[in-house]
Amino acid sequence: DTAPETRQFEAEVAQVLHLVTHSLYSHKEIFLRELISNASDACDKLRFESLANPSLLAGDGELHIDVSWDEKARTITIADNGIGMNRHEVVANIGTIASSGTRRYLEAMAQDKKADTRLIGQFGVGFYSAFVVADRVTVLTRRADAPASEGVKWESDGKGEYTLEQVELPGRGTTVVLHLKPEEDEFLSGWKLRSLVHRYSEHVAFPIRMPKDSDAADAADESTDTQPAGQDEWDTINAASALWTQAKSEISDEDYQGFYKSLGHDFADPLAWSHNRVEGNQSFTTLLYLPAQPPFELMMGGRDERKGLKLYIKRVFVMDAAEELLPNYLRFVRGVVDADDLPLNVSRELLQQNRQLEKIKASCTKRVLDMIESLAKNEPEKFDTFIKAFGNTLKEGIGEDTGNRERIARLLRFASTKAEGAAKTVSLDDYIARMAEGQDTIWYVTAETHAAAAGSPQLEAFRARDIEVLLMSDRIDEWMLGYLHEYDGKKLQSVAKGELPLDEAAKQQHEEAAKAAEPLVARLKELLGERVGEVRVSARLTDSPSCLALSDYDMAPHFARLLREAGQ
Ligand code: ADP
Ligand code: MG
Repeated sequence: DTAPETRQFEAEVAQVLHLVTHSLYSHKEIFLRELISNASDACDKLRFESLANPSLLAGDGELHIDVSWDEKARTITIADNGIGMNRHEVVANIGTIASSGTRRYLEAMAQDKKADTRLIGQFGVGFYSAFVVADRVTVLTRRADAPASEGVKWESDGKGEYTLEQVELPGRGTTVVLHLKPEEDEFLSGWKLRSLVHRYSEHVAFPIRMPKDSDAADAADESTDTQPAGQDEWDTINAASALWTQAKSEISDEDYQGFYKSLGHDFADPLAWSHNRVEGNQSFTTLLYLPAQPPFELMMGGRDERKGLKLYIKRVFVMDAAEELLPNYLRFVRGVVDADDLPLNVSRELLQQNRQLEKIKASCTKRVLDMIESLAKNEPEKFDTFIKAFGNTLKEGIGEDTGNRERIARLLRFASTKAEGAAKTVSLDDYIARMAEGQDTIWYVTAETHAAAAGSPQLEAFRARDIEVLLMSDRIDEWMLGYLHEYDGKKLQSVAKGELPLDEAAKQQHEEAAKAAEPLVARLKELLGERVGEVRVSARLTDSPSCLALSDYDMAPHFARLLREAGQ
């Protein structure tokens, strides 16, 4: 054994520690969920690696997670016999912040001082939640492929430094010992810990065990020696089953919601879920959820951290494979895909070329669109929540998923001259149902803000003729409209372009006015010269004297500005 070595946390770790301990104190208890989730990940990893290398399981094939406590020592211990870590991994995984998501989170937090508890635990700060309740944390870990002499002891008070020491550890896996802060006694209770496991970790796929008779020990409030229980004195206290493999009829709504929360990422209930088994020459099960609120990486505009859709092969977790299983515009979806027929040694590179996976992806996409459609039809309030959270993400599908363009377009909602305020409530079908006789165009206006769109002088002529115009002011709208030229046989057109529908009387009136204004037009052309392409008498306006118009091939002004900003 070598002497303990003291090291500094990366500056960012110190920042995260500070942030986590100060923003999580109303959700203190999630430390247990986070540590159990890490233990479960570690068991998943070992099970996967052992497929290629069965000797890793050597004599200890039952993977489990043990939660115990010691009233005298005032500790809580979470132990797993999963993959474990070597010294290098300990330093890399819990002494630094590798995830770019966490970095972005920190940057966002630096700007906006209100730390949002909802976000924590979604991106690699999970382990540090231990310091919300503990003033010292000890990690004892040995990687499954390392000898007993190469155990690692990591210890820290969470204040900027940690120590590392090589120790002898008889078993593989990781043990996390929390030395509780003086005021956190409530967690030194079997009843409390047990109820937290049920609440947050019921559907973790490995047995979570607690010492037998923990309730009785708890009730007898005298300070008897709580010896660590022996191997045969444990009770499994969670369901420890892969929920998605059970029959739908046997799963309650609470089970589905509980499972969603055990996937991490969200404290809130999901809006909807869809659980399906596909049988055939290719069989697979999908359990997909629509969250009620955007996950962190969407809020930050990031795309590189797509977690939340897990690929299992015959109940063995293989990898987070959101990118392989769903198109990018559905990246908010969470859940599980379990395939029967993929090779277990599949790599990410192979996955990307796998044709079976293409089918699974198409099936998942269809299920998600079905689920959103059903919300739109049957649960307007939830659909409204969905549109607020993910409407703009869904718009990306118009360009990304040509095959489903019409289905996606049907789900979109817009602000409109015939609806109240800026709320997005009008569908293209609503618009078509209100079209005037003979109208064959869906009109829209785009601007940088809703107010600018609603106040556009180009709307005057449309208002005067009672023609509805959709008001678009999201950054993505102009891009989306570049792909959405038609819907249900109707052309989509900007009010800034193209011909306005005029009736006969109006046409004649317009021609007379144009004639009368010819000298004025000639004078304006002279004055404006090169700065304009054309000066015309317009039927667009009723109150304003003039406006800028675009030819069919011009870019919308704010889109042109966006491109300029981007240096194009
Ligand atoms: P995340 O779980 O999102 O990766 P955490 O902060 O919870 O972030 O954990 C950081 C990393 O530490 C994990 O990714 C893993 O590599 C390692 N780790 C944490 N707990 C364990 C454990 N019980 N066994 C093995 N590795 C672990
Ligand atoms: Mg974690």
